[in-house]
Amino acid sequence: MVGRHAGRRPVTATVHQGVVLSSAGGQWRVRVEGGEVALASLRGRVKHGGDLKLAVGDRVTLSGDGAPAGGTLTITGILPRTSQLSRRNPSGARGERIVATNLDQVVVVFAMVRPEPNEAMLDRFLVIAEANELAARIVINKIDLADEATARDRFDGYATIGYPMHYTSKVTGAGLEALHDVLRGRTSALSGPSGVGKSSLMNAMYPGLDLRVGAISDSVNKGRHTTVGALMHPLPDAGYVVDTPGLRELGLWGLSSSALDQCFPEFREALGSCRFADCHHVSEPGCTVREAVTGGGILQARYESYVKLREEVAETEKLW
Ligand code: GDP
Ligand code: ZN
Repeated sequence: MVGRHAGRRPVTATVHQGVVLSSAGGQWRVRVEGGEVALASLRGRVKHGGDLKLAVGDRVTLSGDGAPAGGTLTITGILPRTSQLSRRNPSGARGERIVATNLDQVVVVFAMVRPEPNEAMLDRFLVIAEANELAARIVINKIDLADEATARDRFDGYATIGYPMHYTSKVTGAGLEALHDVLRGRTSALSGPSGVGKSSLMNAMYPGLDLRVGAISDSVNKGRHTTVGALMHPLPDAGYVVDTPGLRELGLWGLSSSALDQCFPEFREALGSCRFADCHHVSEPGCTVREAVTGGGILQARYESYVKLREEVAETEKLW
C-alpha cells in the first residue's frame, strides 16, 4: 500500500465543515466547526459547477492546510439546503437571488408603541415568510410601555391564524425566556422595522453578544443598495440569527399575484371553492374568500392587506 503512494505528495489538507456567515469582498466568512470564524475562498469547480451559487447560511465542506488557524481555507462543496430565502431580480432576466439558506424560521418584531405597530407592514413580512415556505412567529416588544391585555387583544387575530406570539420587554424581561427558547439551536431571520428593539432584545437575551442588528447591515449596505446579502450571527448557545436587510425593504420577492392568496394561511380553506378557478378574490361573484370575510372567518384588515398587496404584486409583474 505504501508503495502505491510512493512519490506522491502526502495529503496534509484537513477537511472541515462550516457555515457561511457572510460574503466578504470575493471571499466568504465561514464559521468552522469548533467555533472559529475564518475567511475562505471558493474553489473554481464549485464556483462554476452547476447553477448552485454559494449563499449565506450554506453548510459547506472546506479544506485547508493548517487552517482555520493561519492557513488558507477553500470551500470545496455545498451540503444540501433545507430551505432558502430567495428574491427575484426585478431588473432583468438574471433570475432569483438566494439571500439566505437553511433558515428555520422568520421572527418578525414590532413594538407596541414607539413606533406604533403597523399591521399592514406586519402582513408583508408574514407573506414573505409564507412565500418562502418558512415558519413565522411574531414578537410584540416594549410591552412595558403599554397595557399587555390591550396588546394581546389587538394581535389576537394573528394567534388565531396560527402564528406563535411573543409579548416582550427588554426593560422588565417579560417574554425573553420563551423567545430565547425558540431561538436556541435554530436559524432565525430576525426582521421588523427599525427602532422596535431587535438589537435590544438580542442583547438582553445574550449579554455580551453586542449585536447591532440594523447598524451592522446599514454599514455594510452603504452605497450598495439592495444588492448586499444577509449577515449571519452565531448565537452563544447554538443557533444563528440572520440579519436580512432585503426583508426590511419589503419588496415582494417576485411573488406572483396568483400565488399571493396562498400566503394568507387563513384563506386556504376558502380557496378552491370560488366560482371562478382563477378568482382574484377582489370583485368576482361567488367568491368564497370574500364570503369568509363577511362571515368573520377572515379578518377584514387581513383581507385589505391582501387586496393592497395584490395590486402591488400585479404592478411589479408588469415589469418582468
Ligand atoms: P432596533 O432598531 O430594532 O434594533 O431597535 P433598538 O434595539 O435599537 O431599540 C430602539 C430603541 O427602543 C432604543 O432606544 C431601546 O432602548 C428602546 N427599546 C428597545 N426595547 C425596548 C423595550 O422593551 N422597552 C422599552 N421601553 N424600550 C425599548
Ligand atoms: Zn375568490
